Amino acid sequence: QSQELSQARIDYHVALQALQDHGTRMVCTGKMHTDRICRFDYLCYSSEAEEFVFFHSNSSVMLPNLGSRRFQPALLDLSSVEDHNTQYFNFLELPAAALKFMPKPVFVPDVTLILNRFNPDNLMHVFHDDLLPVFYTMKQYSDLDDEARLVFMEGWSEGPHFDLYRLLSSKQPLLKEQLRNFGKLMCFTKSYVGLSKMTTWYQYGFVQPQGPKANILVSGNEIRQFARALMEKMNTTRAEEDDYIVVFSRSTTRLILNEAELIMALAQEFQMRVVTVSLEEQSFPSIVQVISGAAMLVSMHGAQLITSLFLPRGAAVMELFPFAVNPEQYTPYKTLASLPGMDLHYISWRNTKEENTITHPDRPWEQGGIVHLEKEEQQRILASKDVPRHLCCRNPEWLFRIYQDTLVDIPSFLEVLKEGMKTKPSLKKSKPASTVHPGRVREPQCQTSVQNTNEAKLTVSWQIPWNLKYLKVREVKYEVWIQEQGENTYMPYILPQQNYTFSENIKPFTTYLVWVRCIFNKNLLGPFSAVQHLL
Ligand code: UDP
Repeated sequence: QSQELSQARIDYHVALQALQDHGTRMVCTGKMHTDRICRFDYLCYSSEAEEFVFFHSNSSVMLPNLGSRRFQPALLDLSSVEDHNTQYFNFLELPAAALKFMPKPVFVPDVTLILNRFNPDNLMHVFHDDLLPVFYTMKQYSDLDDEARLVFMEGWSEGPHFDLYRLLSSKQPLLKEQLRNFGKLMCFTKSYVGLSKMTTWYQYGFVQPQGPKANILVSGNEIRQFARALMEKMNTTRAEEDDYIVVFSRSTTRLILNEAELIMALAQEFQMRVVTVSLEEQSFPSIVQVISGAAMLVSMHGAQLITSLFLPRGAAVMELFPFAVNPEQYTPYKTLASLPGMDLHYISWRNTKEENTITHPDRPWEQGGIVHLEKEEQQRILASKDVPRHLCCRNPEWLFRIYQDTLVDIPSFLEVLKEGMKTKPSLKKSKPASTVHPGRVREPQCQTSVQNTNEAKLTVSWQIPWNLKYLKVREVKYEVWIQEQGENTYMPYILPQQNYTFSENIKPFTTYLVWVRCIFNKNLLGPFSAVQHLL
C-alpha cells in the first residue's frame, strides 16, 4: 500500500527515546509569519485533536521564541497566499513527560514538507500557489529531495489535478484525512513547514483589488526551468514544429460560442494549422506537449491559461474577456507572460458588443447567477457596462459578467490580434538575452583644477568593471552622477569612455559628490561607485 511508511528504516526505540529525551526542535527563517519556513525535528501531529504538537524537554529549541506572539496572528502561513487567515499554522505545546500517558507515536522516517494547497480544484491556483512554490521550496532545502514526503493539510480530497502534485516527489503525497490512518499520534522525524512565496506573481484581491504582486521576485528563467522539470517528469517532449496555433477551449462555462468560426479565421489569417485542446478532452501531459510547440495560444480568460508557461519563447498569448470585464483589472496571465525573460507576447481582446454576450442570471451564485439578489440590484448589474473594481471572491456583478458566454466578433478580434502582433519582437531579438550585470567600476578618481574664482574643471576617470574583460558585451556605457553637496538634485551623464572633464556648472571651492556606474546593452545596470571631491 502506497501510504505505508517503512518503519523498518528507523529504529523505533531509538526514535522514541530521542523524542522523550530531546523533545521537539524548531529553527525557522523569516522575520514575519508571512516569510517564515520552519524546520523541525520531531514535530508531532495528533489526529484526535487535529493539531500539531511541540514537545518541550530540556533540550528542545524553539527559534524564533515568540511566546504568545506566536498567535498574533500565527507562526507562519501554511499556503503560499500571503497572510490568509484560513491558512495559518501553529502548534500546541506539551511537556515531553506527557508522552508516557499518550498513544504510542508512529514515526515518519521521510523528510517531510507540510503545507496547505490553496485551491486544488483550479489549475491556475494549482500551479501558482502550490506546484511552483513547492518546487522551489524543495530547491531551497537540499534534504527535500526526490524522496521527500509532501503532506497537504488544507483538508481537501485529492482533487482533479493530483497527478501533477505526484510529479513533485517519488513518494505519494499524504492528505490530512489520511493522517489518522497512521494512528492517534504521528511524529515527523524531520520536517519543513510552510512554503516559499518567492515565485508567486499575483495577489487575488483579499485586501485590495486583485493584481500583480507589489514586489515580483521571479523571472521567466525560473518559471521555464520548473516547466522543463515538470515536462521531464511527465515524460513529455516538446513538439517539433512551431507553426501552429492552439485554441484552448472551455466546454462547460465561459464559452466561445463560435469557436469553429474563430478557428477558421485564425487559420486563414495566419495560414497556419489551428488545433484545439480542452481539459475535458485531453490528458494534461498531451495538452502540455501541444502547447510547448505552439506559436500562439488563444483562450478565454480562465485557469487553463496558466498552461502558457509551457509555451516556447517568442510565442504569443491572446486572452479573450467577456462583455463588461476590463482586461487591465484581471492580469494573472498577462503578468506571467510579461515576466522578464519569459519572452511571451501578450495580447488581450474584450467583447464590447452587448448583443454578443449570453448571460446566465438563473445559475447558482458561484457560477454568476443573480436571481437571488434584490430586483434593484439585479437591474443595476444588468445595466452596468463595466464591472467596477472589487475585492475577492463573491462579488456578484463580477461573477455574473465573468461567467458569460461570448460570440466573438471576428473582425474586431482579428483587428486587435493583427495590431498586437505588429509590436511583437522577432524571435531573434527575444533570444535569451544575457542577464549578466556589470560589476562596479574600479578606481574611480576625480581631479580638479580651479581656473579662476568663477570657473573650475572636474575630471572623473575610472577603470572597467572586473567582469567585463571576460564578457562579450554589445554596448558598454557609463553613467556619471554629479551632485553639489547639500543640493538634493544631481546631474546625470551617459558616457561611452572611461573619463571625462566636466566644466559646465562646476564651481570652485565646492564639494561635489560623484557616482559612476557601468551599463551593459542599455538596460543592465551595475552598482554605483562613489567618489567625493573637494574643489
Ligand atoms: N474548467 C474547464 N472547463 C470549463 C470550465 C472550467 O476546464 O468549461 C476548469 C478551469 O480550467 C479551472 C476549473 O475548471 O481549472 C475551475 O474553473 P473556474 O471557471 O471556476 O475558474 P477560472 O477558470 O475562472 O479560474
